[in-house]
Amino acid sequence: MAYQTTNPYTNEVVKTYENATPEYVEESLAKGQALYKEWRNDPVASRIPVLRKLAKIFRDETDSLAEVLTTDMGKLFAEAQGEVILCAEIAEYYADHAEDLLAPRAIDSIAGDAQLENHPLGVLMAVEPWNFPYYQMMRIFAPNYAVGNPIVFKHAAITPTSAVVFEDAVRRAGAPDGALTNLFVSYDQVSAIIADKRIQGVALTGSERGGVAVNEVAGKYLKKTTMELGGTDAFIVAEDADMADVNAIAPRARLYNAGQVCTSSKRFIVTANHYDEFLESLKAAFASVKLGDPMDPETTLAPMNSKKAKEKLQKQVDAALDGGATAYFVHDPVDSEGQFFLPTILTDITKDNPMYGKEMFGPVAQVYRVANDEEAIALANDADYGLGGIVFAGSAESGAAIASRIETGMVFVNTFFSSLPELEFGGVKKSGFGRELGQSGIFSFVNQELVVKRDHPNDDENGGLILPHKF
Ligand code: NAP
Repeated sequence: MAYQTTNPYTNEVVKTYENATPEYVEESLAKGQALYKEWRNDPVASRIPVLRKLAKIFRDETDSLAEVLTTDMGKLFAEAQGEVILCAEIAEYYADHAEDLLAPRAIDSIAGDAQLENHPLGVLMAVEPWNFPYYQMMRIFAPNYAVGNPIVFKHAAITPTSAVVFEDAVRRAGAPDGALTNLFVSYDQVSAIIADKRIQGVALTGSERGGVAVNEVAGKYLKKTTMELGGTDAFIVAEDADMADVNAIAPRARLYNAGQVCTSSKRFIVTANHYDEFLESLKAAFASVKLGDPMDPETTLAPMNSKKAKEKLQKQVDAALDGGATAYFVHDPVDSEGQFFLPTILTDITKDNPMYGKEMFGPVAQVYRVANDEEAIALANDADYGLGGIVFAGSAESGAAIASRIETGMVFVNTFFSSLPELEFGGVKKSGFGRELGQSGIFSFVNQELVVKRDHPNDDENGGLILPHKF
């Protein structure tokens, strides 16, 4: 597998990287393990200054860091800037909150003076995708740095420069050797690393296919995992939705990051009273996007991340059409060699269509017509995935009542879906398990060690030892 940066707008091969040697992998694991042993005895507070410095680097160097993202995978420069700032915010969030979150928790117990202490687990293996190359790394790095878990990571083969730059920023922030090590490794090497007894946890963000492969190995070796996988998120337009709000948000919910977001709205489920207006409005918005150089501030839709991804999406659209779907809208062709996918709206996708329920990772909207809110909820739940979702309804409360009935990990009502440091991120069903970010995210790879202490063994009321049946 070649780790290579190919600019998807120009198709220029910018840089090719050598794979890590077995010796380098071994050295990285040894360094990580030694650091874990050291960190286990250090207070959380001792690691906070590095997170603050890292946040400062991301704020001070926003533009140069953002340009790396745009070159690696083609995202709009303005969106890349937003990703860099979000990374700074995540580092700051854990710098601000980690000590409190990880403080021991006292337990009221007859056994004695009991508390749960939060200790690091050990070295983690992270496997990360190309669609938000820094943000995905920061989601796992910042909380685990605070906890004291060193990380070795494999980034996507198409975003190696982002991996190198992220690792370098962490080093420049003052993190010790072994705290975060980028490894350009093959799938087989990933499996061997997971099997290594020094690895205590595995975090993967990526596709269902990648998640299954990595989780299988992790399961075999009994390694704790978090799986952040794909989705077919519903965007429900309820009967009493305010269409001005819907029309303002829907195009962005599908086209942001060129539609390559795990939580992009992939299925627009629209009640019959709004269906025609919704389609007209989405079509006008899709028709007006400007495809072009992602560094140009005038551009509103970037190329896809690679030729391979574009071809895969085209095959999916073709399969949907062969299966009876209607191409309600396809954007006019663009005069560019860049890996652009023309924004497309598909309707009439029936349950027997091969693309029904499949994730389409790019600027393709599937729009479904339903009779009422009940049907909308039923269709939203007729999915193998459950990652995010958006509901537009007449009020926050009525929208929330619908949201709570959707079998999914995260729902936003009457607003755009956004990932923020304080909000738990994760899914259910084939979208994976575990949570990143927020308070829960810091506990994914923590040894919650129970310590019960007394000066002497327990006495019961009669002066005897506590009853064996209490065990
Ligand atoms: P992918 O193919 O699963 O790749 C993700 C990462 O896993 C890459 O580093 C990839 O390496 C690696 N990988 C894949 N198969 C592997 C194997 N058998 N052994 C070891 N490593 C393996 O995912 P993708 O298609 O590039 O990314 C898009 C998917 O990610 C979408 O489904 C999207 O919804 C999902 N996603 C989910 C979240 C979330 O938080 N839930 C966030 C972002 C994206 P290579 O690059 O070398 O193949």
